[in-house]
Formats: sequence, C-alpha cells, structure tokens
Amino acid sequence: MAARAEQRAMTFAPFALRDLLAEVKGRCFPAMGALVSVGFQGGYAPLACVSYTPFPRQGTARIAVHSALDRPDTPLDVVRFLLKHELIHVERESARGHGGGRRPSHPAAFWEREREVAPEAEEMWEWIESEVGHCLERDHRRECVFVVPKRTPRRGPPRWALYPVSVSAQNQDAWQDRS
Ligand SMILES: [Zn+2]
Repeated sequence: MAARAEQRAMTFAPFALRDLLAEVKGRCFPAMGALVSVGFQGGYAPLACVSYTPFPRQGTARIAVHSALDRPDTPLDVVRFLLKHELIHVERESARGHGGGRRPSHPAAFWEREREVAPEAEEMWEWIESEVGHCLERDHRRECVFVVPKRTPRRGPPRWALYPVSVSAQNQDAWQDRS
C-alpha cells in the first residue's frame, strides 16, 4: 500500500504542476477567486481536463493533465498553455455562478479569450502533435482530445513510452468539462 502510494507520487517531469499552476493563475488570472488544484492522470483520458464545482463561494476546480506529459523533456510552456486553457474554463464557469451545465464548452468567446491569454497556442500544439500526436484521438462531439496510451507510433517507439505512466488517484467520474 505504501509502495503504491509512493509510485503514485513519482513524477518524471522537471516541474511541479502545482507551482506552474500558481504561476499561471497569478500572472494570467489574477482576479480568479476559485480554489484550483492540479494533478496528473493516466489511462484513456483527455490530454487535459477540469472539473468545477460552484462552491464554496468562488468555486473549486480540479485540473488533470495527462501523464503522457509527465516526462523530462516536456517544455514548461506546453504545460503552462494547457493550464491556461483549463483555467479559462474555470473562469467562464465561475462567471456563470453555477456549474455542471451541458453546453458547448468551446464557444467563439472561449477561443477569443484563449488567443488573448495564450497567443502561443499554435506553437504549443506543434510540440504536442509531434511528440504525443500518435496517441491522440479527437472527439469532435465532446470537443475533446483524448490520449490513447497504448497506441503504437507510426515510426519508432514514442519517447514518452520510456517512462511508466504515473496514475494519480482520481475519481474519473468527477470530471465534467473535458479539455
Ligand atoms: Zn477545453
């Protein structure tokens, strides 16, 4: 049991998600009052996603970043970009004052806000596509990019596959808005 817990806590990334989140939240969303936490999640799951609960008061959110990005060479800016994307969801949900609505999660205003906060988006997607693109699956209906961990790359082994996937203990049912 202790060993399992230790395994879960193991990470290969040279960054702490929590620190990056604090940095991005402070710099790009200084007015955000929601309590936001972050962790890696593995398996067949979105590249990044967030769940939001509208209480207490300013709301609580939990961001999950896929452990396909838990590798030593993931650029910090790629993770910062994904966090910004998820924080825009939090910002929008928080402004609505209630959570759990079932409406398109990326309307035009969302992308407008992303261009404002993350002009680097296109460049970040280039890295994501080239490094983990072979195991990405786009779900257009759910407006989401899923990671299929066991998919074989077209040529050669995926570099991230050299590192075992660390699965954080998340209740997958809790996720609502998926990247
Ligand atoms: Zn999204």
